[in-house]
Amino acid sequence: MRLSKCRALALFLLVCSALPAEIRQLTILHTNDIHARLSPAPNGQGGLAYLAATIRRERAGCNHCILLNAGDLVQGTPVSTVFHGLPVYEVANLLGYNAGTLGNHEFDYGWMQAKKFMETARYPVVSANVINEGGTLFTAPYVILRVNGLRVAVIGGLTDLMPTLVTPKQMGEWKTTPVVAAVRKAAAEVRGKSDVIVLLGHISAGEEKTFLETVPEIPIIVTGMSITASNRRSRKTAACSFA
Ligand SMILES: [Zn+2]
Repeated sequence: MRLSKCRALALFLLVCSALPAEIRQLTILHTNDIHARLSPAPNGQGGLAYLAATIRRERAGCNHCILLNAGDLVQGTPVSTVFHGLPVYEVANLLGYNAGTLGNHEFDYGWMQAKKFMETARYPVVSANVINEGGTLFTAPYVILRVNGLRVAVIGGLTDLMPTLVTPKQMGEWKTTPVVAAVRKAAAEVRGKSDVIVLLGHISAGEEKTFLETVPEIPIIVTGMSITASNRRSRKTAACSFA
């Protein structure tokens, strides 16, 4: 279990479609694996009130800030266990997320409860690789956010390790398809209608590495689940390749 984290990532995007080149700023604030820690830990650290204050401070006067959540809002405290996670989504709405993705623990109370989380969230929850036998996606694969004149495509992706993390009963008719291929497919779809593509993933450290090393069309990855790769999650890029 981890306490919530919030990191600010400032990106300077060079938009190449117009001459002279224009530089626009985008700041991505992101959280992951909050795990229902609504209250501070016994040592007084963390908790959503602290997180909310931090986010409010970072967003004050910021016209280029977005807030993303990389999965696993639920599971980890009694309020989640007793009420099957729903209050955590209700409280998370107050943080003002622009988009979120599904973590493995969103399925802990069964896929129908995961659907309820998505109905409760007042922001888009995206995931490109949770699908049923009929080929229907559990949720939209991506969302395109408009911020500071930029079209920011946020694609969700869930780890290939799901079969080891949840039971067939919890997933029902739903399963994950290979995350890299599914996200790349979504990236091809959004390429012509976005200025920058962001992966919002709940993926393993190995999967993060694969994305960073083999998926150049996605220059920014924001992830949850893995602790070990937290310092190399993102990379800067100039956006000429997106034109
Ligand atoms: Zn987690």
